[in-house]
Amino acid sequence: MLYQQVLDLLKQEIPADEYQKFITPLQFDEKQSSSDTLLFLVPNKLLVRWIQTKYADKIAHIYESLTDKAPTVVIEHQSACKHVNKHDNKPVAQKNKTPSTLLNTSYTFENFVVGSSNQLAFAAAKSAAKSPGQQYNPLFIYGGSGLGKTHLIQAIGNYAISQGFVVIYTTSEQFLNDFLYHVRNQTMDRFRQKYRQCDFLLIDDIQFLSNKEQTQEEFFHTFNELYNLKKQIVLSSDKPPKKIAGFEERLTSRFEWGLMADVQPPGLETKISIIKKKCEMDNIYLDDEVIHYISIHMEDNIREIESAIIYLNAHANLLSRKITIDFATEVMKDLIKDRAVDITLDDIIRVIAHELNIKPSDIKSRKRSQPIVEARRIGIYLAKTLTPENKMKDLAEFFGLKDHTAVSHAMKKINELLKTDENFKIKVEALKSKITSAKSISGEKK
Ligand code: ADP
Ligand code: MG
Repeated sequence: MLYQQVLDLLKQEIPADEYQKFITPLQFDEKQSSSDTLLFLVPNKLLVRWIQTKYADKIAHIYESLTDKAPTVVIEHQSACKHVNKHDNKPVAQKNKTPSTLLNTSYTFENFVVGSSNQLAFAAAKSAAKSPGQQYNPLFIYGGSGLGKTHLIQAIGNYAISQGFVVIYTTSEQFLNDFLYHVRNQTMDRFRQKYRQCDFLLIDDIQFLSNKEQTQEEFFHTFNELYNLKKQIVLSSDKPPKKIAGFEERLTSRFEWGLMADVQPPGLETKISIIKKKCEMDNIYLDDEVIHYISIHMEDNIREIESAIIYLNAHANLLSRKITIDFATEVMKDLIKDRAVDITLDDIIRVIAHELNIKPSDIKSRKRSQPIVEARRIGIYLAKTLTPENKMKDLAEFFGLKDHTAVSHAMKKINELLKTDENFKIKVEALKSKITSAKSISGEKK
């Protein structure tokens, strides 16, 4: 069976334990699937989004490599499908997606966290949405994966729809498939009518049109027509126009006519705000310590950070556990193991000693003067957060304390202070980012 073949190939791509945990329980719903849509059912509701984010695209790509058809892979909770009308052989529309435009309704400007890394792209997107076809046409948004390009481009779409405009949002792959479909059926006039009679044409991930000459040719004419009519065109890509290979020059130069805005990896503060926003939207409670832990240890890809939060929450729910920092480090260790931060206890002491002007040996001593006690407590706290591999008793030994209860005591004191003393909190955060950034800079130089 084809789907089994797809899963077998997936098995070779991902770690065996992941396959066992997440893919084995999937049930393929043959009745409701078609070559456009593959529907998989998950027994556990909490894992639906996790599996969707992590594996749906992979499954779709493998399927495409076998059949040349790019399907949409839908993951749903098993019991949700009881409500599907038996005569309708399409799966129920995904939550949050309005079928007519395929826009995710939660991708709005309000839900987008703005920081210096994405401020220009955000402002330009908003301006294009509010005054289409004026200043920023085309608007070209580019940057790495998971940094908010699709969110922004769809926010433009959601806003424009709310203002009554006709919006087409499509990925370049869908555009390509649509084009081929109409060529095959000799209905190109319908294709042209569709794409040239909109107020907003939003094409996501335009880089995938690379080397598709015929489709580029057609897109070139669509572009010109819409541009002349002063309709808003918004494109996204992983690279700036000039750097995308396999594109005709007359197209890439047009991409530069309006405004090019990049999205950069978010800084620590922005990352933290994004995590808070996502938790608020999904009704997940994480305390500051856990949020900090995630923001420091996960890479900059927000999509991955989001799925990590969902994963963490799913585990906590399944096991009826509270999400403490210990629980989070334990659950997330598989997700962050590839990250080569490699902070050591000595790194932590070195930075604290330098910044607070205290001798490293004093921090590790039993001296009881106030500044030293404070530096030691901060050290213990940061060691616990930044080097999760160290157990309480290791920390006790390293910091010259009697036993692990002394470490717990120090942690408790610090957590109280962090809650009540804003200045202290800022100081600790600053030390933390000094330690991690010192480490990532020295890591890059290697
Ligand atoms: P890209 O298209 O650049 O690969 P996406 O737009 O799909 O990235 O973003 C991945 C996920 O991260 C989405 O769920 C999106 O909502 C979220 N995200 C990215 N940047 C932000 C941000 N600045 N504020 C809120 N959510 C964000
Ligand atoms: Mg995207």
